[in-house]
Amino acid sequence: PEPQPSGRPAEIDPDKLDPDALKVIHRLHSHGHEAYLVGGCVRDLSLGRTPKDFDIATSAHPGEVRAIFRNCRLIGRRFRLAHIYFKGGKIIEVSTFRANPTELADTSPENGEEEGGEIEESQNPDLLITHDNVFGTAEQDARRRDFTINGLFYDVVEGRIIDYVRGRRDLDEHYIRTIGDPEIRMREDPVRILRAVRFASKLGLDIESRTYAAMEGAVEDLPRCAPARLLEETFRLIRGGVAAPSLRLLDALDALKILLPPVAAYFKEQGRRGQETFYAFAEALDRRVAAGELLDDAILLAALLVPIAQASPVVESLDAAGRPSVSQAIEDLLAEFVQTARLPRRIAERCRLLLIAQRTLSGERRKKTGAFRRHPLFADALVVFEISVEATGRHRDALEAWKRGDVPSPRPSSTEGAAAE
Ligand code: ATP
Ligand code: MG
Repeated sequence: PEPQPSGRPAEIDPDKLDPDALKVIHRLHSHGHEAYLVGGCVRDLSLGRTPKDFDIATSAHPGEVRAIFRNCRLIGRRFRLAHIYFKGGKIIEVSTFRANPTELADTSPENGEEEGGEIEESQNPDLLITHDNVFGTAEQDARRRDFTINGLFYDVVEGRIIDYVRGRRDLDEHYIRTIGDPEIRMREDPVRILRAVRFASKLGLDIESRTYAAMEGAVEDLPRCAPARLLEETFRLIRGGVAAPSLRLLDALDALKILLPPVAAYFKEQGRRGQETFYAFAEALDRRVAAGELLDDAILLAALLVPIAQASPVVESLDAAGRPSVSQAIEDLLAEFVQTARLPRRIAERCRLLLIAQRTLSGERRKKTGAFRRHPLFADALVVFEISVEATGRHRDALEAWKRGDVPSPRPSSTEGAAAE
């Protein structure tokens, strides 16, 4: 990602605002509530980028939002927020101003209004946030957010940014900095490590040094986060087309052993060569995502795991169901993701099959090619194979043959010097 030009980010261009988000804000105002654009959309607009979606923060409680909008659903248990639906599947997310629950210990109690009557133990020495359903003011809502660049509000009536957290300075200077004490903010939610990595990679920003030091310190707390959140934030890096730079940063932070243990093990066993191969795959994948190709999670994950699958011995014995398998490390990883991190079983299974299919595509495993070609996963398997070919330069002939509709010759890539494969 290229760095933003220096100097003040342009003011937000009102023409870039989403008309449906504006409708929602005006409607909330007409019912006497405060409402602002908030978070990623304000950040992206300030950087001259097109926001993925427009989120709104409001003084209205979820039930009040629900009562105002017909096309509205409340979601989330702990953290209840409203989704307002518009044409074309567009969703505007409306969340009520909330305070950081850990901050309430040192602010006066009337600042926080508890939803559902659950009170956090005030003497809790453990920083990890376990629930965050405490309503608050606009300023508290800015302060409970993760990074200063994500803590800006935009007042659409006045046409100005409201900055409680010095987020504009950091946008100007291209810094990712936590709001408040970085040690505390990283420890209370280590998922923020992955978020900082994503914003740094995606937006081309630097991580401010105390924030970075706090990330290093909080890596050991990653295993305490909900596995589903960790996996989701990991997928967001890959879906965002910044897998390679993000995984490099996570490796530097020594976080891969927690997030993707087989990748960490592969780096350890294979050394530099292995890392280079892995990042060549990640970069080939990133280029395709950046070019706007829509690849589902099974393809994204499979493309990253191909070099690891190739390096580890295949469990040749079929399992009870007669399925061929990928390497044990990958079987274990996928099973773990399904069991603890809520990866849909369907995605894990597709990922396995895509990896197994690579052996047929490269010619390592012989199959009846007609049936293989007609398999519903053939096209996706070929996308993964194309990424491999791009990353390694091997099996170009086989790829061309598969694409032409021929059966590739049974001498896989021997002309390309991959005899060791
Ligand atoms: P993107 O454009 O990639 O969606 P985003 O900033 O909108 O980036 P989201 O995950 O959609 O990121 O979150 C919306 C906002 O909620 C963030 O901008 C931030 O203010 C706040 N937020 C999200 N996750 C956290 C977190 N773990 N801790 C504190 N604040 C968070
Ligand atoms: Mg967002």
